[in-house]
Amino acid sequence: MSTHADRPTPTDANDHTSRRLGLVRASRLAVDRVACTGHGVCAQLLDGVTLDEWGYPLVAPETVEGPEGHAVAETAIRLCPARALYLR
Ligand code: SF4
Repeated sequence: MSTHADRPTPTDANDHTSRRLGLVRASRLAVDRVACTGHGVCAQLLDGVTLDEWGYPLVAPETVEGPEGHAVAETAIRLCPARALYLR
């Protein structure tokens, strides 16, 4: 039985349609520095992320563009153990 939380919202549907049509806007990857615990998964997955001397991410200012760039960024966001990555 699905719950209300399982159903896509109109915004989810619009995002999916935009991605399918290649209309995704450029975004920037950001890190919630309070939530980040320095696991480094993001640096392993994303070219624009390096780690500082304490293992915390340094995110290059380049934007995440196109469906491929968003797919990789969304994978990193999903795999971040601290849920500290987001697109803005
Ligand atoms: S994967 Fe998440 S917790 Fe780990 S360094 Fe990157 S942002 Fe921080």
